[in-house]
This record gives sequence, structure tokens and C-alpha cells, in this order.
Amino acid sequence: MALLEIRDVVKTFGDFTAVNHVSLSVEAGEFFTLLGPSGCGKTTLLRMLAGFEQPNSGQILLDGKDMSQVPPEKRPVHTVFQSYALFPHMTVAQNIAFPLQMAGVAKADIPARVAEVLEDVRLQQFAKRFPHELSGGQRQRVAIARALVNRPRLLLLDEPLSALDAKLREEMQLELINLQKEVGITFVYVTHDQGEALALSHRIAVMNKGEVAQLDAPETIYSYPKNRFVADFIGQCNLLDAKVVEVGGERMKVEIPGVGVCETLPVDGAQVGQSGTLTLRPEKIRLAASVAHDADEVHFTGKVHDCLYLGDVTIYIVELDNGTLVETMLPNSAPGRARFFDDNDAVELAWRYDAGHFLLG
Ligand code: ATP
Repeated sequence: MALLEIRDVVKTFGDFTAVNHVSLSVEAGEFFTLLGPSGCGKTTLLRMLAGFEQPNSGQILLDGKDMSQVPPEKRPVHTVFQSYALFPHMTVAQNIAFPLQMAGVAKADIPARVAEVLEDVRLQQFAKRFPHELSGGQRQRVAIARALVNRPRLLLLDEPLSALDAKLREEMQLELINLQKEVGITFVYVTHDQGEALALSHRIAVMNKGEVAQLDAPETIYSYPKNRFVADFIGQCNLLDAKVVEVGGERMKVEIPGVGVCETLPVDGAQVGQSGTLTLRPEKIRLAASVAHDADEVHFTGKVHDCLYLGDVTIYIVELDNGTLVETMLPNSAPGRARFFDDNDAVELAWRYDAGHFLLG
């Protein structure tokens, strides 16, 4: 049995549908992420899990138990908010002890429980400090410690890192991964940051307009987006208009008008003449003045349109023969070599037939 089961949940505000027939389940011990652009309904879904909002229809089950009649404070669920929501007049230890006092834990047991969770978040030396004496990252760790101290079945995290600068965010991401492994509590994490979702999660539900657009492991979401929305939202992706010209067998052939025919992985239900989109990640494309390629590779020509030097890699935007722009990249791994081509250089591109992924429609 899944730890959390969301069954056909709908939430409307007036005549606006914020969450539209969402069903999904989360296993015990999972790091599960709700990812999507602003307004897609992820926070509303999280708030329903916490009990701050009630669904119009559908069910939320935790350990098989329907939560509809269970108020927020009685659910074995805690939420960590972006704003930390720490009590400013209490020390770190007092902040963390607070939920234990509220739950009626015996006074004598509280110090040990607080010490244990302070160790989990590596803040043992900070027990006596007040929130204003801590950095943003430390405050966030206190907020997480306070949410964990009651050992909830489910920890909900609503964009907990979005107030931190990029470097600290990366550090906190690593800490969250390790913390979740150590404490083994199931995390449901909300973010609009696709890099963060890919880095942290066991599985991701990508949401769009109140619906789940795709639910899969990060690698699957990235490599095999199920629709244009997911392909476009997650990372950089080339979306090439194409048409099916041959089906049957282990490979399918599609034509990119004005460029040529290429092989790709077969798609269930594809028929000759159907149009769609070939999705292709920049790093899957090999680029050279003259690129050696074999029978498993697609090969086209083009010319460099723009170059963007990013330090570790340089992005080359290549114009195909039909005027379509394709993003490619080359690592700057060779010493001193950072620019292989200039604007207007003639180049060749190649990619394995199974690097591209065709979407019908
Ligand atoms: P963000 O990342 O910006 O927080 P989100 O994906 O979390 O976005 P939600 O906060 O779930 O989005 O909101 C989904 C939609 O529902 C938005 O259009 C929002 O304006 C609307 N909405 C949310 N709460 C309410 C409310 N209490 N009353 C009316 N509309 C609401």
C-alpha cells in the first residue's frame, strides 16, 4: 500500500479550477516532487495534503486512511514553508521543542529529542541562538528540524530553498538529500525550479494548469518527455517540427521539412503522414566541421548562427538548411580551447537515432 494516495482530487476557487482530477500515489521513504510553473496548482495540492484546504471532490488517503475529516493539527504531516515561520523570541532549541510541548510529550523527554534532531541538521552548537543570529541556510535547517522533531509520516516542503542564493541553495540541496536518506521520512517537495527537482527527487510529477503532465523518475522525464509542455519546461530542448514517413520495425523514419529524413525510436500508434515534434537535447548532438558518423546516427548540415561562451561549455546555435535553429553544446575540456567555431561557419551535426524522441501531434 502506498503511504499517500491522492484519488481524483479537484479543487476550485469560484469558477477557476486550480487542481483538476489529480490522481497519484507516493511510496513510503520517497522524495517526491511537485514541479510546475507559477499558478499550476502545486501549492494548492500541497495545502490539501496538509489539511489547510479541502478538495471539492476526490480523496486523500494517508496509510490507507481518508484524511477528509482529519484537521491539520491531527494529521501526521508537517509543512516547511519558504518563509521558515520561526518564532523570533525563542531560541533554536525552544523553537524545536515547541511542537513536542504542543503534542504533550513528557517534559523530561524533550531535551533528548531536540538534541537528536539538532544533530540530524548539524546545528548542535546553535541551540541557544535566536533566529536573527542565524544565516538564511541555518534558519531553514531549524525550520526543517522543527518539522521533523515529531517524526511525521509525511514532510511537506513548499519551495523551502527559494529565498537562498544559488551557492547556498546547492549546499542545502545536498543536505536535504542526505537528511531525507538518514531520517527516512517521506518528503513531498514543491518547486518551480526544474534543476532542483531533477537533483533531489526519486520521482517528479510535472504539473500544468492543474493537471499532472507527466509523473516519472527524473531521468525519464528529462530523456523521454511525454509531451511538448514537459519537453519545453524541463531543461533546454530542441523541438523540431517533423512528419512520420515510415513506420514498422525497430526504427521509425520522420522527415524534417527542408532538412531531410532521419530515424528515431518508434512511437506507439504512429501512422505515415502524421505530424509531430522531434525532441532533442543539446548535449546529445555532436558537432564538428566534418563529423564522422555511422549507420546508427542521423547526420545533417548547417551553419553557426550564434555562440555563447558559458565557461565549462560553449553553446552553439546552428541554423539548419530550412532556417530552424538548433541548440548544441561543446565542452571546453581541452586546455585553452574555448571557441571551436565562429558565426557563419559551416558545420555538421550528428546524433544517435535513439537520442531523439518523437511526440505525435
Ligand atoms: P506558485 O509557484 O506561484 O505558488 P502554484 O503552482 O503553487 O504557483 P497555486 O498557489 O496552487 O499555484 O495556485 C493555483 C491557482 O489557484 C492560481 O491561479 C491561484 O491564483 C489560484 N488560487 C490559489 N489559492 C487561491 C485562493 N485562496 N483563492 C482564489 N484563487 C486561488
